[in-house]
Amino acid sequence: MTSALLPIFQPAPMLFEHGDGAWLTTIEGDRYLDFGAGIAVNALGYSHPHVVAALERQGRKLWHLSNVYRIAGAERLAERLTEACFADVAFFANSGAEANECAIKIARRNQHACGKPERWRIITFAGAFHGRTLATMAAGGNRKYLDGFGPAVDGFDLCPLEDIAAVRNAVGAQTAAIMIEPVQGEGGIRQVSFQFLRQLRELCDEQGLLLIFDEIQCGLGRTGYLFAHQEAEVAPDIMTLAKGLGGGFPIGACLATRHAGEGMTPGSHGSTFGGNPLAVAVANAVLDIVQSDEFLAEVRRKGDLMRAELAAVASRFPNMVVEIRGCGMMLGIKCALPAPQIAEALRVHGKVLTIPASDDITRILPPLIVTDGEIRQFAQRLQLALGAVVGNAALKAG
Ligand SMILES: *Cc1c(COP(=O)(O)O)cnc(C)c1O
Repeated sequence: MTSALLPIFQPAPMLFEHGDGAWLTTIEGDRYLDFGAGIAVNALGYSHPHVVAALERQGRKLWHLSNVYRIAGAERLAERLTEACFADVAFFANSGAEANECAIKIARRNQHACGKPERWRIITFAGAFHGRTLATMAAGGNRKYLDGFGPAVDGFDLCPLEDIAAVRNAVGAQTAAIMIEPVQGEGGIRQVSFQFLRQLRELCDEQGLLLIFDEIQCGLGRTGYLFAHQEAEVAPDIMTLAKGLGGGFPIGACLATRHAGEGMTPGSHGSTFGGNPLAVAVANAVLDIVQSDEFLAEVRRKGDLMRAELAAVASRFPNMVVEIRGCGMMLGIKCALPAPQIAEALRVHGKVLTIPASDDITRILPPLIVTDGEIRQFAQRLQLALGAVVGNAALKAG
């Protein structure tokens, strides 16, 4: 099939026409159970009435307003997000990569404003993913993404995860900040230990560095906490959000303490579309739901159920399932076959959508509104797909 789209993606063949809850329906009427949720974007599933209503209401009022004017919804969203965590100020962007670009700029500018302009480098970690812009690609350090695009943007020093001695060793006179995903997503659902996060916090305090958490994938309730770092009780100086924040509408955010934001003066950063009235109306509606303690407790309970169901299926395929990892509703399953093959088997044999990640992890990221019944259906379909993969006809009958 030829297409006029730049051939950087290899989309699956289905053509989806609409979605509701955790389900996507093709133009032929085939229904798929979506446990990828647009890579953790559709936090409230598809067609959530509260979010659709917010979009429609705002759609009739104002879509875009330049940031040269006050945007009430953005002021409100910034207030709510900062009240819910360590931060004092927020900047809104259109994507995760842009939110991270802002975080990098804030960190560099902070050191500059504090009389340390020589400090501009940032320590990042193996397996990280921070986006596809030139700087965020360099921050991730993944050769696969960097190759062929000329010299990587300078200023990022890669360290192994969970090795505080290596990080301490990498800190130099030019180091400005440390940037990390509390739970790596693209890298293969790797939850960073609370102890390592604590050690990074201590090192930053001791050396006058800023700590940046990229919660673009793991934030907004995904782990069962509004922000993943809140479970670890380690606060950063800067945090980025995107994916789940707009529930499917593009928006990113960079939150910071007032101190970290020192140096960000009028004109030092900007965005044409960032935080426009339509985007923030939708994000405020998502937050209405995700922010409640009851909702987050449900995410934790359903995450536990999902893990138990996965473990039960895994026990039937001891030679196929190698590992189950992650937390909350951000789980990964590692099999004896490449992840794209597992995701394809799930799609073909189970009509279930999942997302492959590095390290042969198949990511399981259902919408946070998924029901217990849908979690059990997912487990049944996974069993069917793995049965087909290992050629076990007896299990297929179940
Ligand atoms: C997806 C992702 C990004 C990049 O977000 P885009 O909206 O694709 O630019 C950055 N960091 C993490 C952890 C992500 O999961």
